[in-house]
Amino acid sequence: MKITDVEAIWLQLPTVDERCDGTQDTLIVRVHTDEGIVGVGEVDSSPMVARAIIEAPLSHGIARGLRLCVIGEDPLDIARLWDRMYQGSIFFGRGGAAQQAISGIDMALWDIAGKVMGQPVYRLLGGGFRDKLRAYASILFQETPEATYELARSLAQQGYTAAKFGWGPIGTSEAMDLAQVRMARKGLGDDVDLMIDAGICYDTVTAIKRASQFAEYAPFWLEEPLHPDNIEGYARLAANSPIRIAAGEQETTIQGFQALLDAGLAVLQPDVARVGGPSQAIQIGRLAASRHRLCVNHSYKTGVSIAASLHFLAALPNSSLLEYCVEQSPLRQTLTRERLPVVDGYVMVPQEPGLGITLDEEVVARYRMA
Ligand SMILES: [Mg+2]
Repeated sequence: MKITDVEAIWLQLPTVDERCDGTQDTLIVRVHTDEGIVGVGEVDSSPMVARAIIEAPLSHGIARGLRLCVIGEDPLDIARLWDRMYQGSIFFGRGGAAQQAISGIDMALWDIAGKVMGQPVYRLLGGGFRDKLRAYASILFQETPEATYELARSLAQQGYTAAKFGWGPIGTSEAMDLAQVRMARKGLGDDVDLMIDAGICYDTVTAIKRASQFAEYAPFWLEEPLHPDNIEGYARLAANSPIRIAAGEQETTIQGFQALLDAGLAVLQPDVARVGGPSQAIQIGRLAASRHRLCVNHSYKTGVSIAASLHFLAALPNSSLLEYCVEQSPLRQTLTRERLPVVDGYVMVPQEPGLGITLDEEVVARYRMA
């Protein structure tokens, strides 16, 4: 079997605003083979940037588009093709957008392998520790604490056993931060786990202070309070926080996650559409397991990423939670025919061959950009 083509498909809603809502656009990858089997993947990046990295022509041996690295190759040689993409993009890659773009092709290769072997991807990754994951509803903080309260109440009523609020007005003032978290907790009640995503808004001293202040509301974790380059700050925060510190969604490389582990973080959050696909996400998860830390996916895109997340998380001993984005964007809610619903607070791991998802071609056509 040989790879015959790699398509990079940019999808975008008619209007995009500055809210940190990753469901406003996406880049879908389709890898075609000479046997008619097609693999699907997703990239979480700036879609045009990642598409350029996939489609770029040959400049020289270590500066070639990812498509050129895999055309004509056997799609089942996943590790070798990952290395070809990594080595072929040394000049502009070694992390960042190139690693994000690799993710989409790697995901599609795992989808192909599962379809060829008649197995769900998690079984090819070593088999399942569990057949379902506990979903935490993931959404942004609302503009007012009262609106956050209403949203939290609604999520609890929908049966979620955990919910995360993030970004938005957090960081604007101490009073706003405490009011938002207090009202999120009040809306969820005491029996639902609360995660707080600070969205890179603090310096180290403020983050240490907020971790103590938020502890009163018993959050399951405080996520990404610091700039991703502030590793020293993360070490000081982790050593001084009464609650778990989580981060990792901005990291794309194994080295980046190593640094976060060394800094003492309790929870690593690799995004399978950023870190180089399931091939790398499973390695990062195992690395976290070897240091007795939790691994929870970051995912704020479409059903493609959610399915890929379910597969790598299912194959890890230290993962039982699933970030489950509840934005109402049609890309998030309708791009895949399989809706991966939450039932009694859990999402089932797909059991069909490959990733277990199919694209709704009408949705692709509606939001496809030139
Ligand atoms: Mg986050």
